[in-house]
Amino acid sequence: METGTCDSCGDVDRDDLVTLQRLYVTPGAPGEEPEVRTADIERWCAACRTHYPHQPLPEG
Ligand SMILES: [Zn+2]
Repeated sequence: METGTCDSCGDVDRDDLVTLQRLYVTPGAPGEEPEVRTADIERWCAACRTHYPHQPLPEG
């Protein structure tokens, strides 16, 4: 399997990378929805996918 570097934590020689879209979540005021902005397309390891907000790439 191809290995690479995680774009989030920088860990090298990962074989569990997934291409996804990073999300930036800004907590809103109490009682308000958080603001969610989509960001860069990156490749993340399993640990980062567990800890940080992201979404699958849009279809197409
Ligand atoms: Zn990582």
